[in-house]
Order: sequence, then C-alpha cells, then structure tokens
Amino acid sequence: CGIIGIAARRNVADELYDGLKRLEYRGYDSAGICTLSDGELERRRAEGKLHNLRTKLDEAPLSGTIGIAHTRWATHGAPTMGNAHPHATDHVALVHNGIIENFKALREELIAAGRTLESETDSEVVCHLVSREIEAGASPEQAVQTVLPRLRGAFALAMIFTGHSDLMIGARKGSPLVLGYGEDEEMYLGSDALALAGLTQRICYLDEGDWCVVRRSVADIYDAENRPADRDIVHSGASA
Ligand code: GLU
Repeated sequence: CGIIGIAARRNVADELYDGLKRLEYRGYDSAGICTLSDGELERRRAEGKLHNLRTKLDEAPLSGTIGIAHTRWATHGAPTMGNAHPHATDHVALVHNGIIENFKALREELIAAGRTLESETDSEVVCHLVSREIEAGASPEQAVQTVLPRLRGAFALAMIFTGHSDLMIGARKGSPLVLGYGEDEEMYLGSDALALAGLTQRICYLDEGDWCVVRRSVADIYDAENRPADRDIVHSGASA
C-alpha cells in the first residue's frame, strides 16, 4: 500500500518509520522495515498498527544507512507478520504495492524448482525470482531486468541487496513510484510525494514501465525497453 526507501549516510530506520507514519492515511494492516546492516539484510515486521512495529524497533533497533519500508493492505494472504513486507531471501529484500496477477504460475514454477516460500503473498514470488537470477550469477540490475517482463498486473517495487550497500532498485507499472533527490548524497523512493515530505520536495514521477537504479549520489532511470530515460525533476509542494 505505501512504500518508502532511503539511501543516506546516517542510520535510516527512524526516518523510514517516520515515512510510514506519513503513509498511515492510506490505511494498512501490517508494516515492516528492512535495512542493510554491515552488508546483511535485517528486518522487523509487525501485524496491526505502526505502534507494534515501533515496539519491535525499540526492543531490537535496526542500524544501516540504506533501507526500505512498507505499509501493507493485504490482497493475497492474511494480514499476519509472516505476510508483511519486506519479503526477503539471503540476497534481496523487496516491498511491493499492487497485485501480481500471474503469481500462482510463478509460485508453482519456483516451488517445482525446489524453492521454499515463506508467505502466502503474491509479492514474495518477485523476491524469489530476482534472488534466483542473482544466485545464478546475475548482477542485481540484470536480475531485475530479467524478471520485470515476466510480471503481470500492477506493481510498484523497491528492493535492496545483500552486499550492495549503495544500491536500491525501484520499478513501476500500474502503481505510482516517485524518486526523491536529497541535498547531498541522499536519494529516496516513495509511493507518493507525501511519503517523502519532510525528506525532500525535489521529486521525479517515474513513467509507466520505468525502473530505476538508485545510489546515494545518482539515479539512473530506464524505460520499459531498458533504454536510459530522462524524467523531469519537479517541486512536489508536499510539506511534512
Ligand atoms: N498484493 C500484496 C500483498 O497482499 C501487496 C498489497 C499492498 O499493496 O499493500 O501483500
């Protein structure tokens, strides 16, 4: 339902949480945050109100200068902690807004290939498809490029990767995703401008079918045919 991603030079967990607070108005049934801490993916997820996630973060704080967060409005799978995003394998963590319409076929393919999925969501299949490419030797960029054309339905996606401490990848089709440009060496992803209010007002609305490779100091945008794309940076006008 709501997405926020931050790549910065300070611990980002609290700012991700604040971003989720700004997305509360959209409604949600569970929430979660994943950061890359010393190169490893670490996540906290909770059912119900954001307060439950806050409690988990207070009990076991997350460190890391890059991370993604999500408020979920369940479409496939009950609103439990196990179905809450971010979904993760050893290689990639992912948040998803929307519905992957062909998830059943993809799920069967993954299970037939011997993979174990942890959740009942449509979203987790994307995580495993990307992970499988990486395990086979692809870079994160190549993996995402291979997987996106296989997805039917509507999605906004944000991903971070084990061992890649300066990389977020976003993609959108049928659900909005915005890129935010910070002051110095900071970049953001959000499901809307409001998610990034308080962080930046310099944003770029990705076009239908776009995907982007985001690092702290630069973002490269590609269109659905993987051609480098130029998109305008605008002033969002959204204030915190
Ligand atoms: N379809 C996904 C799920 O049920 C994402 C729902 C959302 O947009 O929050 O987990």
